[in-house]
Amino acid sequence: TVRTRFAPSPTGLLHIGGVRTALFSWAYARKHAGVFVLRIEDTDLERSTPESVQVILDGMEWVGLAHDEGPFYQMQRMDRYKEVLEQMLAAGTAYYCYCSKEELEAMRAEAEARGEKPRYDRRWRPEAGKTLPPPPAGVEPVIRFRNPLDGVVAWNDQVKGRIEIANTELDDLIIARPGGVPTYNFCVVVDDWDMGITHVIRGDDHVNNTPRQINILAALGAPLPLYAHLPMILNADGSKMSKRKDRVSVVDYQRQGILPEALLNYLARLGWGHGDDEFFTMAQFVEWFDLANVSPSPSRFDREKMLWINQQHMKVADNQRLAELTAPFLVEVGIDPTQGPALAEVVGLLKERVTNLVDLAQQAHYFYRHEPASAELAAQHLGDEARARLGRFRTALSALPAWDGTSLSAEIKRFVAEEGIKMPLLGMPLRAAVCGTTQTPSVDLVLAQLGREEVLQRLGKLAG
Ligand code: GLU
Repeated sequence: TVRTRFAPSPTGLLHIGGVRTALFSWAYARKHAGVFVLRIEDTDLERSTPESVQVILDGMEWVGLAHDEGPFYQMQRMDRYKEVLEQMLAAGTAYYCYCSKEELEAMRAEAEARGEKPRYDRRWRPEAGKTLPPPPAGVEPVIRFRNPLDGVVAWNDQVKGRIEIANTELDDLIIARPGGVPTYNFCVVVDDWDMGITHVIRGDDHVNNTPRQINILAALGAPLPLYAHLPMILNADGSKMSKRKDRVSVVDYQRQGILPEALLNYLARLGWGHGDDEFFTMAQFVEWFDLANVSPSPSRFDREKMLWINQQHMKVADNQRLAELTAPFLVEVGIDPTQGPALAEVVGLLKERVTNLVDLAQQAHYFYRHEPASAELAAQHLGDEARARLGRFRTALSALPAWDGTSLSAEIKRFVAEEGIKMPLLGMPLRAAVCGTTQTPSVDLVLAQLGREEVLQRLGKLAG
């Protein structure tokens, strides 16, 4: 079976690039009826607070990428890493190195003086016929991987194509720090092996780690997974996304009123395509997804396109669910959406007119509180004549036998005919007076939702 994983390091935010990586890993597993593993790489103790782990779990839950196994935590697997380190020491595929900082510094300086890449000179690497000095007293050694000296490491990257690295380019990597603490690359290798990962799908910032990881896996006699390195997501102008300046966190999109399925849909389109299809469901994505269709070049984030996709998802979203997602944005500004028209109905009236939930909530304000027209709007639409007319209309409304869209629509038609005016001469002042804006859905439907009492009360304020 196909087994993929998403292996974020908790940093305090869930990066949208990470979400796209997770999405592709998840989709690949789903498509092949496989298993999607979530692994938290929490060995950086400074950054890996419980809060920053929670940010990842919350983010994954919000976007709806459910894992089948995990979350596994690397910090809980230390015994296992140490066990594998022991095995490698015993097998001679790893060795203790007692080099001091000063010695390493000297090696670096010498290499630089020769104009070469600084590298460890393998002085503690055991070789046949080589005598090692006795370990210096009081030095806690690191453990290094005994990297092959020649040959090449090669893999067919599922996105980037064949990649080859000569072993002469690779140092004897430190796989455990003094005190036996395993290093990042080593933990990843043991995890991918133990978790039976068949496809490592990750950001291409890890391409340089791959040959090292392949060598260690080979030394362990572990099967090699396939690797797929995903290109970066850049800003619209082609610059690198920055944590400080750009909206890189999933929470930013949640706050901007983007639906999780729309964010996933948009992220799916970054670096992957299926003909001209822009708007699709996750079920379709899973059906269409293939690593072969992932582009090896970076993609650029296009906010307008994301909003367009969000709008398409809003149009088809269930009104009740949209209402639940919109409510927090109203509560935030002090509006209680349970006091007034049913939010699901309001959302149904407004959702085609906006691109995100923030705007949706913004436009819903006047359903829950009277937003008086601005002076400018009043000057334009609420002159003496308009007020008088709205007064007459109010009287007509108070006598209307039924209060629903159909009767209101009929009454509006009857009234404008009686007054001998065109529709906008009633519609615009009516909207301005009742909603505080002229940008509203069909006014009969708005009045129907507001209810008679509320409408009469709002129109009544005009008289004063
Ligand atoms: N923990 C790494 C990161 O957050 C990912 C490691 C991997 O996918 O192999 O970038």
